[in-house]
Amino acid sequence: MIKYKDVITLSKSYELMSHELQNNTLAHSYMVISDDKETLYSYLKVMAQLIYCDSHTACGKCSACVRIDNDNHTNIKTLMSDDAIKVDNIKELVLDTYMTALEDGVKLYIIADGEKMNESSQNKLLKTLEEPTKNVIIIIGTTNENSMLQTIRSRCKKINLSVWNAETIFIELSNHSTDKDKINTAVKFSSGSISRAMAILLDESFQIKHNNVMSVLTDFKGSANVSKFVNIFGADKDQVVSHLNVFEGIISSLLQSKIKGIDDHIASTYTVGSLANIYDLIIDAYKRINSNCNISNVVFNLLLQIAEIKYKLA
Ligand SMILES: [Zn+2]
Repeated sequence: MIKYKDVITLSKSYELMSHELQNNTLAHSYMVISDDKETLYSYLKVMAQLIYCDSHTACGKCSACVRIDNDNHTNIKTLMSDDAIKVDNIKELVLDTYMTALEDGVKLYIIADGEKMNESSQNKLLKTLEEPTKNVIIIIGTTNENSMLQTIRSRCKKINLSVWNAETIFIELSNHSTDKDKINTAVKFSSGSISRAMAILLDESFQIKHNNVMSVLTDFKGSANVSKFVNIFGADKDQVVSHLNVFEGIISSLLQSKIKGIDDHIASTYTVGSLANIYDLIIDAYKRINSNCNISNVVFNLLLQIAEIKYKLA
């Protein structure tokens, strides 16, 4: 069974491909973009099932679907690589497109890690995309569209993968934890990525960092308390930066609650302007840390400025 297939088949991205098949408007080449590798891999397989499935529904039951599930459909070549994809790998793929198919129907080439192709590999592929061989479909999956040459991008039909939303992420995480608060936090900080949500759910120290940062927003009263709160950001650069990451995520989600008018106790104690100011201060703190300013001074100043914002709100 393809991971996350249930969620994928309910998504807009599935609908899009299914629509193309029904209307016979399949393109010769696609570029599927997602920063979530697992969902990307699964979607590429579902695409293949849609193309070869007896009923074009990725039913999972017909012989074509089963063979794709088991990675042994003779008309499909999938290139997966943790390392750089070399010109020779693409040369081999291109040559293969000229060979007669072992079975009837289209020949499908899936380059699952497109971002691993360097410029020469991509150039090698270009001609095949420009003058596609009959009955050949090439699908490039990538986590980074910017790593793909413009010439490649312009010849592929683009699919920006849209599979997850807060509800489906919540349901998936519920299979791994019964702690609703933890799940809700992970959903909130996931930015629509199931991998990120999962990482947050499984990171024990995320909750601690989250609580630390929340205490700045709720308990931190003013400049007299600064010294006490400086310590919670940690002593070294890594700890401070990871706290700032969490802080940035919290402020973004509070801003979203505010803008969407979602009832949130903490958001209600801040104005949009004050949250935007805090956000800018966090970004500024990153910059200072990266230009090697003294870590505790950066945190101290950040807290002083937040104290000032809170003072104005009171
Ligand atoms: Zn099927």
